[in-house]
Amino acid sequence: LEEQLRQSQKMEAVGQLTGGIAHDFNNMLAVVMGSLELLNRRIGPEDVRARHYVTQGLEGAKRAANLTQRLLAFSRQQPLRPETVNVNRLVGGMSELLAHSLGGAIQLETVLAAGAWPVHVDPNQLENVLLNLGVNARDAMPDGGRLTIETQNAHLDSRYVAEEIGVATGQYVLIAVTDTGCGMPPDVMARAFDPFFTTKGVGKGTGLGLSQVYGFVKQSNGHVRIYSEPGQGTTVKIYLPRLTGADAVAPDNGPSEGILLP
Ligand code: ADP
Repeated sequence: LEEQLRQSQKMEAVGQLTGGIAHDFNNMLAVVMGSLELLNRRIGPEDVRARHYVTQGLEGAKRAANLTQRLLAFSRQQPLRPETVNVNRLVGGMSELLAHSLGGAIQLETVLAAGAWPVHVDPNQLENVLLNLGVNARDAMPDGGRLTIETQNAHLDSRYVAEEIGVATGQYVLIAVTDTGCGMPPDVMARAFDPFFTTKGVGKGTGLGLSQVYGFVKQSNGHVRIYSEPGQGTTVKIYLPRLTGADAVAPDNGPSEGILLP
């Protein structure tokens, strides 16, 4: 519990700091990009070299803008817009996009619980979270493999079970994302949620993917756990609290049997 508290305080502090910086940075980048666009229009068709330099500048600025967007998302400058969400439908709706981003060598399998309970989360953020996990899985499987997304209604009413996996007793919808990739050694796993912690090279990883996952899950009153075995693969389990009460009807629960995409 103390560890959890430390983690969430750290996230809070870093979130505020990065949010402020990212916001100012975004404004400055807008000036840089605007000026480069104007310059670009003035370059004659014969001045190939100048165009090359300006194009490079613009591309760099776009990458930077992309990063500040992620920083802003991470620092919660973008408010959550929770809705009643059917996770099966959300997963089903994005599986084509996911399969595409995984590339040809990785199989995507979805195993969706029949009649999954509704949850109350921001659907766009949940999609981002699953995309982040997809990117991590892809990077962990350079030689191909399998990514499985499984949903389950999890009834954690045994205090023992709840304590065993470190979540409060109650009813959750579990989303488990499993890859058959390189896995994480214990020292990496211990820091995996830390903002800016990455083992990927400069320009490849931002170290914000899993901290975004963490932030989303905490704001949604859920829990997240990582299970990983070096050389075997990794499972990220996200527990989202079941929505009960007036809004608690998930229309159209989607397919109950697994679908297999290339
Ligand atoms: P990034 O992907 O930008 O590095 P993340 O916060 O998403 O940032 O991940 C942090 C680190 O955790 C990664 O650099 C990697 O070492 C490790 N990691 C995350 N997901 C996986 C995975 N599915 N398999 C193996 N290692 C992973």
